Amino acid sequence: MRDIKSLIRTIPDYPKDGIMFRDITTLLGDAHGLRQSIEMMTAPYLDKGVEVVVGIEARGFIVGGAVAEKLGTGFMPVRKRGKLPWKTIEQEYTLEYGTDVIEIHEDAVSTGQKVLLVDDLIATGGTAGAAVKILQKAGADIVGAAFIIDLPDLGGRALLEKSGIPCHALMQFEGE
Ligand code: AMP
Repeated sequence: MRDIKSLIRTIPDYPKDGIMFRDITTLLGDAHGLRQSIEMMTAPYLDKGVEVVVGIEARGFIVGGAVAEKLGTGFMPVRKRGKLPWKTIEQEYTLEYGTDVIEIHEDAVSTGQKVLLVDDLIATGGTAGAAVKILQKAGADIVGAAFIIDLPDLGGRALLEKSGIPCHALMQFEGE
């Protein structure tokens, strides 16, 4: 089995000084890397009764769509404010500077529905944490959250797990 971690491209000081940007396009562009990543993300949830996969804009759409297809579920997007055409549930979250808002259609998930949350990467957990709040407002039963990459030093995964959401990541990178 090839090491999928070696397919991640790291770009130092992007988008600003001090950030090590973990670029997944090199992983997704590799046929074996893509297939292996989706299989590994899907495996823990094959017998968990997931009914819908929710992916976070934008890279969570690519991975989440593939995971949903493999699990045989539907897919629903969480988007940045103002992008969804129907009535939405929204949640503000804190960025390093200022705040942002993400939204989901109010009928995207139903009360008690078993949801798997998917994104490419968890860092501070701000984005995924906001998505969890939205799903909880909608009454979803969050089965877990799956990521390709976890940056453990930023503590997002620990935070999410502390709030009762089991997390799964394919690899970790130490540092920021
Ligand atoms: P956070 O809300 O801090 O957990 O950040 C997660 C979101 O920001 C994900 O949607 C990632 O795509 C993006 N992100 C944060 N840090 C990085 C990084 N070092 N490399 C690539 N993407 C990142």
